[in-house]
Amino acid sequence: METKAERRFLYMRNHVHPQSHPHHHYSQSRRDFFRSLTGGALAGASILELAWHRAAWARALVPTAGPQLFDIEKVAEGVYCALARAQAEINSNAAIFVNSSDVVVVDAHSKPSAAASLIAQIKKEITPHPVRYVVNTHFHWDHIQGNQAYAAAGGKIDFIASEPTRQLMSDLAQQRLQASLDEIPKQIDTLRVRAGKSTSADEKAFCEEQIRQMLAYQSEMKTFTLELPTIAFGKSHLIKDEAHELHIEFHGHAHTAGDVVVFCPQKRAVATGDMIHGFLPFIRDGFPKTWPKTMDSVAQLGFDKICPGHGPVHQTQERLINMRNYIEELTEKVESGKKAGQSIADLQRTITVASLKSMQSNGYSKYVSDNQFKYTPNFGPAAPLQNGVNTNIVEVFNNLEKM
Ligand SMILES: [Zn+2]
Ligand SMILES: [Zn+2]
Repeated sequence: METKAERRFLYMRNHVHPQSHPHHHYSQSRRDFFRSLTGGALAGASILELAWHRAAWARALVPTAGPQLFDIEKVAEGVYCALARAQAEINSNAAIFVNSSDVVVVDAHSKPSAAASLIAQIKKEITPHPVRYVVNTHFHWDHIQGNQAYAAAGGKIDFIASEPTRQLMSDLAQQRLQASLDEIPKQIDTLRVRAGKSTSADEKAFCEEQIRQMLAYQSEMKTFTLELPTIAFGKSHLIKDEAHELHIEFHGHAHTAGDVVVFCPQKRAVATGDMIHGFLPFIRDGFPKTWPKTMDSVAQLGFDKICPGHGPVHQTQERLINMRNYIEELTEKVESGKKAGQSIADLQRTITVASLKSMQSNGYSKYVSDNQFKYTPNFGPAAPLQNGVNTNIVEVFNNLEKM
C-alpha cells in the first residue's frame, strides 16, 4: 500500500501512542514526578510549564498504557504473523521467524514506535531471542519506516532487501515520507468538518482519535532517520539455521520493481509483503502485465500458509489465485479498452465489480471488502469496493507499458 490521496478511501476510515525516545526524564515514577513538582526544580514553574511536565509524565506511561498495534497469530512452529490493527497511518503486517538463537522479522511498518511496540510484544508473547535480521519486502513507507527502532534496540542487526529495493529506498524513501506528511493537514481538515457535521458522539470521537494519530505521526517523524539495507541481493539470499531455512527470493516485477518473498520450506510458510495480500492490490508503482506471472512463479514454492503485507493470514493458496486473476482480468480489460481509444472515465463506467469474473469468483469481492473494512480505520458503512477498482483502473492504465 502506498500513497494517500488515491488510497484514502481504503485507509481513511481507527490508534497510536508514539513511544517517545527513552529519556530519563520521562521514566520517573509518578511519585518522583509529583515530588519534583512540589519541591525542587519546578517550584517556580508557570502553569504552562506545569502542563508541559504533566504531558511528559503522561507520555512516560505510553509504552504500557498505549493500545496494542498488532495481533500475533501463530502460522506454524516458530512462524508467526503480526497482523497490523487499523491505524490512521497504515502499518504493514510483520512475519516473525524464530531461529535457534535469534529472530528474523519481515517488514517494519510506518513508524519507529510501531516497530518498538512489536519488539516488546515479540518478547512478551513469543521469544526472548533478539531480532537479528529485518527483511524489507519492498520500498514502501509503510514497510520500512520502522527500521530505525531495530537499529536503536542495540543488538547486532542487518536489514535485508533486494538490490532494486535498496536503490528505491535510497532514491524515494524521503520523498514518500514527505508525501505522507503533506497529506495530513487536509486529512485533518476533512475529519474536523466531518466531526462538526456529525450528531453522533461516537463518530466525533472516531474523528478526534484519527486526528490524534495523525498529529502523533507528524511529531514522531520529525526525528526519523532512514536505515538502508545492509545486505542487498540480486536473486536470492539464504538464512540457514538449525530451526529451518529462510529463502529470501526475488521472482520478478510485481507490486514494485524489487518485491521479495521470504519462504520457509520446512514450515511450508511464506511472507509476501504487498505482492500477495487480502486487500485490493496497490498498482501505482506496479507492473500489471508482469505481476500475475511473478505470482505464478512464487506459487510454485512449496507453501500453504501466507503471512501477507496486509490483512489476514492465508491458510491456503486460494486467495493468492483470486488476487492474481483479478490483476490479470483487470489488466486485460483496461488494455483492450485503452487500445480502442477509451478514456479512464469510460473504463471506470464499464469495468465494474459486478462485471469482473474474478471478483465474483469464490466470494472474492466480499473477502476484500471485509478485510479492508477490518484492517483500516472505518466508522459507518464500508466504502464501495468500486472506488478501489476505479483507482486500480487508473494505476493499470498508467502502467500498462511497464514490464
Ligand atoms: Zn503495504
Ligand atoms: Zn506496498
